[in-house]
Amino acid sequence: MAPPSEIPALDILAIAAHRDDVEQTCGGTLLKMAERGCRAGILDLTRGELGTRGSAEDRAREANEAARILKVAWRNGLDIPDGRVENTWENRLKVARVIREQRPRVVILPYWQGRHPDHYTASVLGYEACFAAGLSKLGLESSGMALPPHRPFKIVYASLYYDIRPSFVVDITEQFELRLQSLLAYKSQFLDQEAGQGIFPAQGQIRERIEAMARFYGMLGGVDFAEPFVQKEVGLVDDLLTIPVKSI
Ligand SMILES: [Zn+2]
Repeated sequence: MAPPSEIPALDILAIAAHRDDVEQTCGGTLLKMAERGCRAGILDLTRGELGTRGSAEDRAREANEAARILKVAWRNGLDIPDGRVENTWENRLKVARVIREQRPRVVILPYWQGRHPDHYTASVLGYEACFAAGLSKLGLESSGMALPPHRPFKIVYASLYYDIRPSFVVDITEQFELRLQSLLAYKSQFLDQEAGQGIFPAQGQIRERIEAMARFYGMLGGVDFAEPFVQKEVGLVDDLLTIPVKSI
């Protein structure tokens, strides 16, 4: 492996609890940025070994295929146990090590509230790992080399799993079809089958649901399809004449 300083830095890193989360919450945004020449990456905290459908190996193969469709430059999965994502010091160090290796300018985390404990825990864990990664006296190594401190400039939260008004939406009209294909690459999850029939929608309904959500957030931004995000900071405006989204 190349020394960490020779790995090109990521522009954007999306961190999520499960393989197939980012495909649902911010895959269109990652693809859009990749198409603009940015280096985008995905870090999945777990490997999906508890999933009702398919094995961890199936999901690894599918995650690689989804990453190819979304044109991301880097994807990796940590070994945090599925269904037991906990905000421990040990887990924070695992994520902080990745942040120092990949040096993203922007990190996308899941929104900090939600139904699935892994999702909201991943949010706090990710934030605290970004903080820890910047501590100059915290020593972290990769392949025997010390990793210099790094803290991302910006953290935004993908809020699709939670019903909250977003701070902004990203227009993914041009990326919508490929983003849907990236989700359907998880054949072990989304092909119609016996296992998990009560909790998984039939494949025919998936497109409808994904499309309805993307259209709703698109409508808020005055475009066809969009993905929602929350930021904790205020927006900063330089020129009132170029603020997008029509008021009246
Ligand atoms: Zn998930």
